[in-house]
Amino acid sequence: MGQRMLIQNGCVLTMDPALGNFASADVLIEDGIIAQVGPNIEVGAECEVVDAKGMIVIPGFVDTHRHVWEAVIRNAGADWTLPTYLNHLYFGGLGGTLRPQDVYIGNLLGALEALDAGITTLLDWSMINSPEHADEMVRGLQEAGIRAVFAYGTPLLNAGDFWHRESTLKQSDDCVRLKKQYFSSDDQLLTLGLAIRGPEFSSWEATVHDIELARELGAVCSMHVGFGSWGAADRSIQRMNNAGLLGPDLNLVHVNSISDEEYKMIADTGASVSVTPEVEMMMGHGYPLTGKLTKYAGRPTLGIDVVTSTGGDMFAQMKFMIQAERSRINQTVLQRGEMPERLPLTAREVLEFATIDGAKALQLGNKVGSLSPGKQADVVLIRATDINLSPVNDPIGAVVLSAHTGNVDSVFVAGKAVKRNGRLLDIDLERIRSLASSSRDYIFSQYGVPDGAWPL
Ligand SMILES: [Zn+2]
Repeated sequence: MGQRMLIQNGCVLTMDPALGNFASADVLIEDGIIAQVGPNIEVGAECEVVDAKGMIVIPGFVDTHRHVWEAVIRNAGADWTLPTYLNHLYFGGLGGTLRPQDVYIGNLLGALEALDAGITTLLDWSMINSPEHADEMVRGLQEAGIRAVFAYGTPLLNAGDFWHRESTLKQSDDCVRLKKQYFSSDDQLLTLGLAIRGPEFSSWEATVHDIELARELGAVCSMHVGFGSWGAADRSIQRMNNAGLLGPDLNLVHVNSISDEEYKMIADTGASVSVTPEVEMMMGHGYPLTGKLTKYAGRPTLGIDVVTSTGGDMFAQMKFMIQAERSRINQTVLQRGEMPERLPLTAREVLEFATIDGAKALQLGNKVGSLSPGKQADVVLIRATDINLSPVNDPIGAVVLSAHTGNVDSVFVAGKAVKRNGRLLDIDLERIRSLASSSRDYIFSQYGVPDGAWPL
């Protein structure tokens, strides 16, 4: 028998409908795989025991949309709209200043920040200026020990050539090299995705090419689409649907402003959707689509997107999502001169979007997203004895509406502890901080400090 670990006496939210939830139960892990979940699991000697009394045990969060490297310029855009953001990073030249070492440390820092917050899986929507940048981004994720879909993206260097709807430039086939070099096995933490520009940031011809390339590689194919002032008029979802391109391996990001018919097309074809509620409301993408998709039985997922403008944890995004949707519906009731009798979205649904539905969107639903026997042991322990969570009267409500990163006691990825007792393990924080500051200093020395930023 291999390595065994028992997470004992926690309140276990499995997010697996067949198993349900337990006020007190154990999770047995063998060789990084969940072997058993239930009360009073008997283990002999040779089994490490993790005391989870007073903890809420959940599957790791899945962040389906994040530009991880941006951790080095975090909060620089506290007051940026989407056009301001695009002008700085894409068209103004900030993204063109990035060296391979900058995106390495950005990815390491950003991935560790995610792990610290209980995000065990993310999709890194990368922007790649050269093959060396791609190598260094992968190295950053590997070193962090996170589970990730590395979605190979388009350059920010000379972004004006790539990021417009007449651009016929195609996705670089360096992703084929990457697939061979780093992602040849399915049995590893990192898998390959493609981060394509899609029909609203490149030509139709390029879009079709890029989607077909992703399919040849068996990679999740993600694009920003259907938002902002153009999303309603473009009808990109309808166009892709008509061309037979929509499917479960397409990941559509934002999609705030499309028609009802198009939401139905998304739900019917099983294409996945990433809602990044905080930046969408802040930067002008549009109102989060949550209820417009669930109306057709679609299952949205959650992403952090850009830490230039938000924090890097899932707790805040769950709250933004749930309250934005409740506010949207409540307002329609108030406008009829009535008071709401019930709320349109439950905390449990939002926790599903943040875990199991996110895993399915990244084509990892058979590996992670719930605490089900046979799945990888990506497990998070939330300290429910903390002052802001105790006494617990609804564990799901506690996680979705009250918990924060400071309550994340322990994080395991494939059974390996990356955070214990509230501290990330085996990291040299001094080195990471120093490299991140040097990178930030270099980027701003080349580009200038963006208006409103105040780097210390
Ligand atoms: Zn994005």
